[in-house]
Amino acid sequence: MAVSSPLVVVGSVNADIYVEVERLPVEGETIAARSGQTLPGGKGANQAACAARLSYPTFFCGQVGLDGHANLVKDALASAGVRLDHVNTVDSPTGHAVVMLQPGGKNSIIIVGGANVAWPKLEDGISRLTANAQQLIKRAGAVLLQREIPDAVNLEAAKVAKSAGVPVIMDAGGAEGPIPEELLKHVTVLSPNESELARLTAMPTNSLEKILLAAAKVQEMGVQQVLVKMGETGSVLVSGKEPPIYQPAILAPTVVDTTGAGDTFTASYAVALIERQTPAEALRFAAAAASICVRSKGAMPSMPERKAVLQLLKEHPLTEEKLSPPDEKVSRFLQCRHRDGAAATKIETPNRVDSKPNGFQGQASPNQHMPKVMEGLKIGIVGFGTFGQFLAERICGQGHEVVALSRSDYRDVARRLGVSFHRDVNAFCDEHPDIVIMSASIISTETVLRSLPVERLKPDTLFVDVLSVKGFPKQLFLTILPPQFDVLCTHPMFGPNSGRASWAGLPVVYERVRIGEGARMDRCNRFLDIFSSQGCKMVEMSCGEHDVHAAGSQFITHTVCRILGKMKLESTPMNTKGYEDILRLAETGEADSFDLYYGLFVHNPNAVQELQRLETAVACLKKELFGHIQHTSGEQAFSVAKRVAEVSMC
Ligand code: NAP
Repeated sequence: MAVSSPLVVVGSVNADIYVEVERLPVEGETIAARSGQTLPGGKGANQAACAARLSYPTFFCGQVGLDGHANLVKDALASAGVRLDHVNTVDSPTGHAVVMLQPGGKNSIIIVGGANVAWPKLEDGISRLTANAQQLIKRAGAVLLQREIPDAVNLEAAKVAKSAGVPVIMDAGGAEGPIPEELLKHVTVLSPNESELARLTAMPTNSLEKILLAAAKVQEMGVQQVLVKMGETGSVLVSGKEPPIYQPAILAPTVVDTTGAGDTFTASYAVALIERQTPAEALRFAAAAASICVRSKGAMPSMPERKAVLQLLKEHPLTEEKLSPPDEKVSRFLQCRHRDGAAATKIETPNRVDSKPNGFQGQASPNQHMPKVMEGLKIGIVGFGTFGQFLAERICGQGHEVVALSRSDYRDVARRLGVSFHRDVNAFCDEHPDIVIMSASIISTETVLRSLPVERLKPDTLFVDVLSVKGFPKQLFLTILPPQFDVLCTHPMFGPNSGRASWAGLPVVYERVRIGEGARMDRCNRFLDIFSSQGCKMVEMSCGEHDVHAAGSQFITHTVCRILGKMKLESTPMNTKGYEDILRLAETGEADSFDLYYGLFVHNPNAVQELQRLETAVACLKKELFGHIQHTSGEQAFSVAKRVAEVSMC
């Protein structure tokens, strides 16, 4: 390896303040962490440390402050073997991040830019990079960029690199805004994950077909190659007119912490490319490095040494076996892109890793995950009453497989809808649906959920509820379900009456309560697609917020309809339009089960208050009416008072 062409990483360096928590605090809440620790991090520094740990000569260009964190991060980079000749010290705190680590390896991060974003604002044409740094970039094997420093600095580095024919690899992570077009034109390989790709292109990325379309759009923006990281699902490289190359993930037996896995992947890929590995070999090398990274906590500390990566690759030898060919739509897309006939029409999968058995650690084999992106989902519905059947019909219509469970015998209706039906919980769970929808009545949900032998289900099952209250099922799922299960709370705010003809424009409220990354997020998005593809208005909102709004709207609607129903209103020969509306409302009052209405009341803490407001409003109105009696003439007032007294006695 030529020391004269090092990897130059221009980017951020942070002190990552880790707190291990059972769950995230809600607004106004203080919770105790299980532990706390400060570790070096930042996307730029992570990638530099990763490359150096892989024994590739690596320089880091970045900025730190004059504080204790600066020493911590510089020591860590130096001990990983990173050259720090081009690190500036500026009058701002060293960048830092608070990483909230939750059970199951999920994390939430807050970043303070500090020195990372305190690059001088200079006139156009004057470089923020020192002359020495520019010289270094010009003789680099590749320059690696991310998005935690100003775009202007990245652009300068990219321009210097491109002018010297040095490839620029850019990780799209670190900032949410669009990447300036001029910068993209200087990037050789852009590496986003699925959500970054979706943000960059404003295109959906919830299937491989859609990812390829979005990657093609990025190429139209001027980037030569797009390397999409798909977490547990693997990665795909889209380059020029070549057929895309797909690399399955090499799955870890236990995922401890995914922080830094994306950085490890990008940096390892960069190293492998400079070392002149083929793109397919580089993808495989990167997959192995990322797999090692997720097995221990922290970003930098979990980055692998080269010998560990080589060892893992040895344990996962290449086989001739190919993955299932992509579905028809992907093939059509590829044919269309390569209609000049120069390139293959199907995704090459040169690097197949051995699949591992499904453990209870939220891991699945690549073969199980990749085809799932393309195939229909297997969806279980628990509670096959009015709403369960209504949902099943639409879900089946979209090509998914539905299996239902209910205490009553719905075999006939299930047969008509093309649904497999069970009354036995074990038989239902043994069907191993990808997703289980809870659609039992609100008041029976806890009993029904506790009756399910969830250990018979797939270890990474996604549980979705459709209850008309939200805080209650969320709490129930988090308490009862195994922590490896994903949880999505939804409320389709319509039913067989209002959604009979079309779902277009009808609201669906949802909260992604606990959804893993990669294929798990993809599965969740595909579930939400069942509604969005029908034109539903998708409203992402916390369960708590939903319940506040629902008590003031839905519960009141049900209550008023039921009150009108109880008044036994009748049609007259002289109905006004307004009265016709009232009659219709009175009819709908009894359309939903009393269980549903009672559930809205008893499991939404805000409902009592709304009932109180309704009573107060009626009382106020009565008071206003009766208060006016004193302004009417003596005889009239007497007659009204008499009628009121008579009615009150009935
Ligand atoms: P529901 O009366 O709320 O629920 C009926 C379902 O609950 C049936 O599947 C029934 O099973 C099951 N169930 C009731 N008590 C049970 C018990 N003790 N043990 C086991 N299962 C029991 O009416 P729904 O309209 O079908 O609503 C289902 C869910 O969807 C509710 O949570 C509701 O909030 C939600 N939702 C409904 C609508 C709507 O417009 N209807 C809209 C959005 C969301 P069996 O039939 O087998 O007895």
